[in-house]
Amino acid sequence: MLREGALEEISDGKLYTPRDMVRADTAGCKGCSRCCEVMVDSIVLTPLDVHHLSEATGKTLTELVEDGKLELTIRDGMLIPVLHGAPKRDVAGNPIRNAYGEELRPCPFLNESGQCSVYKKRPDLCRLFPLGRIYTEDGFSYFLQDGECDHPRSKVKVKKWIADAAIDDERYAEFLLHWHEIAVAMRGQTPNETVIRRVFSLFYAPYESGDFYAEFEVRREALLHA
Ligand code: SF4
Ligand code: SF4
Repeated sequence: MLREGALEEISDGKLYTPRDMVRADTAGCKGCSRCCEVMVDSIVLTPLDVHHLSEATGKTLTELVEDGKLELTIRDGMLIPVLHGAPKRDVAGNPIRNAYGEELRPCPFLNESGQCSVYKKRPDLCRLFPLGRIYTEDGFSYFLQDGECDHPRSKVKVKKWIADAAIDDERYAEFLLHWHEIAVAMRGQTPNETVIRRVFSLFYAPYESGDFYAEFEVRREALLHA
């Protein structure tokens, strides 16, 4: 869902604040599940996303990986979980494509009715789409990804579109910024398997205290003072 490339190449070139209007409202995506059927392994999952998926499914990260719903991958110097989209093939073993020529690798949480079975706990990047988030010196802004969703869309206030994800919530914003800082630090260092595994174990172990954000901050402090 979130592509890499210059902002001008993948968006309308504008940055949006939560107060701005943006043409992002897909009105429930009626009859379409395109973005849940392709590129799902680009959905990198934060510790909060994994926590939410565990709440939705009653399964730990390890169990979700064993079930083939998630997979672990090294990306930008981090070991990170992503959604696992198994390729769809015809009887001859050839990839099945949608009307756009894209290979189908449906999300494991997409049900037979074409709906998200973890909708209320879906990952952050899924909640944002077709918006994306870009980090700046002052925090973060939003942009509208173009060329990915050709469904008719109407204007909606960014704040309303992302309200589900509690983006305006201060603790959520703080978590996003702190997680981004960790990701940037990991990206900037020489790859070291021991460090990569330690960071993964620290942040992706189950959060069981009942206060995700507080527990995340304790773990972050542990990393900073290690
Ligand atoms: S491509 Fe657009 S309309 Fe289709 S599922 Fe994704 S966001 Fe919804
Ligand atoms: S988690 Fe839900 S919204 Fe996200 S790709 Fe899967 S089915 Fe779609």
